[in-house]
Amino acid sequence: MEWNAGPIYSALVIALIILVYSREYGGIRTVQNQMFRMTLMTTIVSMISLLISVALNAEMTKYPLFLVELFNVISRISMTVIAPLFFYYTISIIWMNRDVLFKWIRFTGWLYLLFALMIASSPFSGVIYTISGDRDVSKGPLYNLMYAMPAFYIALIIIVLFYTRHKLSRHLNLVILSFPVLSLGFVAIEYFYPHLLISSTAATASLVITYLYIQNKKILEDDLTGTMNRLAFSKVVSMRLEDESPFKIILVSLDEFKSINNQYGEQTGDRLLQAVSRYLMNLQPGAHVFRLSGDEFALLTTVADQPCLIRTISDRLSRNWDVEGMKLSISATIAELNIPEVTNTLEDTIHALEYCVREEKSLHSNSMITINREALDRMHRKNKIYEHLKQQLYRRELDVFYQPIHHVQSNGYPVFEALARLAVPELGPIAPPEFIAIAEDKGLINQLGEVLLEQVCRTIKKLENSGIEFRHININFSPIQMMNDTIVSELERVIRTEGVDPSRIHLEITESVVIDNFDKVSRIMNDFNRHGIQFSLDDYGTGYSNLSTIIHLPFAGIKIDKSLLYRASESQSTFVIIQALSRSFQQIHKHIVIEGVETEAHMKLARVIGCDYVQGYYFAKPMTADDLIIFLQNASIA
Ligand code: C2E
Ligand code: MG
Ligand code: MG
Repeated sequence: MEWNAGPIYSALVIALIILVYSREYGGIRTVQNQMFRMTLMTTIVSMISLLISVALNAEMTKYPLFLVELFNVISRISMTVIAPLFFYYTISIIWMNRDVLFKWIRFTGWLYLLFALMIASSPFSGVIYTISGDRDVSKGPLYNLMYAMPAFYIALIIIVLFYTRHKLSRHLNLVILSFPVLSLGFVAIEYFYPHLLISSTAATASLVITYLYIQNKKILEDDLTGTMNRLAFSKVVSMRLEDESPFKIILVSLDEFKSINNQYGEQTGDRLLQAVSRYLMNLQPGAHVFRLSGDEFALLTTVADQPCLIRTISDRLSRNWDVEGMKLSISATIAELNIPEVTNTLEDTIHALEYCVREEKSLHSNSMITINREALDRMHRKNKIYEHLKQQLYRRELDVFYQPIHHVQSNGYPVFEALARLAVPELGPIAPPEFIAIAEDKGLINQLGEVLLEQVCRTIKKLENSGIEFRHININFSPIQMMNDTIVSELERVIRTEGVDPSRIHLEITESVVIDNFDKVSRIMNDFNRHGIQFSLDDYGTGYSNLSTIIHLPFAGIKIDKSLLYRASESQSTFVIIQALSRSFQQIHKHIVIEGVETEAHMKLARVIGCDYVQGYYFAKPMTADDLIIFLQNASIA
């Protein structure tokens, strides 16, 4: 037969080009990369050996028989092993785990091994092919296994891909699927036109596709800085976790990088990021550097390295950076995490780094932390609370307690404060400041406010239906809710849907909201006022608001924080100031509520200070809506 080796030559050149390009892989020896290179090398070997064996077979009598037999065996084995290798490469992409890969190899590899032995024994047994006395290659009785064996592994690829299709993106599934599809197509052609020798072209074409879409170094590289990117970080960390040898991750999160961009322009910002990443890349030979997000870098190193690496980084970062002739200064929050001492999964590792750096940044910038188990426990607790709260809000169920507020003059309880409650399985009741902070942090606070308002509206209707006389229910409003531009219309919609008079709702906000956002807060308060919703200033005395700011905002009442009451009971000067403040507020028609009245002595003090309302355990603790009705009915009889 006249063989046409042309397709092999072109496929070989392409495969060699990929081999050269895939060499510089930044040292990431993931299972996936190793399997890819093994498949690629085997394809190259198969093509070279096929070329040699075609040449030898053409003029067989010229060469010693053992040489002809040897290359026939090598080319047949290397050609048919590509499909199993592609299958194992697929496994390594799906599971990214060496142990899983070895399990699959043990489970399915023996079949190919058996077949390879058949090929290797063919010079003696002739089961796959035979070379006759007059030196002619002919098919053996099991020759069709040359097609059946790769077909079996190709079928395995399709089956495994089908069952794990949700593990990978659609795009990745399609890229992997290119091998079975191309192979089946090309092998079918070769089956009918055996002289064409194009089956290795199928493997090369698939390798080109996989290289471009999966293995390309650029996919793992950050364009701006040339460091590795977030995807590479996940891959390298997974691989190191599998190795089970200890290592350390240092996360460098630049503080307030936005202000550099705003002040000097984005181009200068980019140069600075490049300078910082160059510094990190040159810091330690062998360490990997990644850019995880705009202004966040990670350094992966072995634990045995210098223990005070984070101090070295912090010292360098706080010195000036020469960028485009300017001297720029930055600071960073730096966290170090020892693995597997603290975390041992990829998910935990990434979450721990992000959570701890965010937590640290909210307290102070330019600092260093070592992430420990306690921090991790805090993170898990926070996640549990978040998940539970999210579910509760999804079901629009939130426990709300009500604390009656005592009106001094009438001796009654015309106002109640609504207080959210949350109990999480395993953790028990969670204090509101803790879960409110989580709701704020995780973007649930607006939803929480809405669900709470629905519950409060229902309680208002219940109280009205029970014939109880009251003025309004106070709802606590978080600063984030107050900054939401559409808050007025959103709440107005809920109140209208529930069919409640808006003047029954009263909002409490704290000084912290007022301090930085006077104009916006003033606009929103006036908007609410127009709808009949009034405001109180909560926890007065715990913030640092300017008195004139408060006076110029339309507050109907001021709630004096319990800490001031407790201090007034011990300090004459605090007492005098609070008394003067209360009187002044009352003179400008703002009612005064004193919070935290727990004892008879507190109550006496509250009277002398002078106030309109008192709130505290002395009168009533927060209670359910049903208990509130009973409490109010009893209070009206007494
Ligand atoms: P707050 O608005 O100042 O609410 C009053 C807090 O003081 C309540 O704590 C109440 O149970 C407690 N309290 C009442 N009387 C006394 C007393 O005599 N002595 C002492 N020591 N405490 C008393 P709670 O329910 O734990 O709420 C704490 C804070 O959490 C609230 O302070 C408020 O800032 C926030 N919060 C509660 N519910 C919500 C909510 O639905 N939304 C928002 N945004 N914040 C809420
Ligand atoms: Mg309050
Ligand atoms: Mg308060």
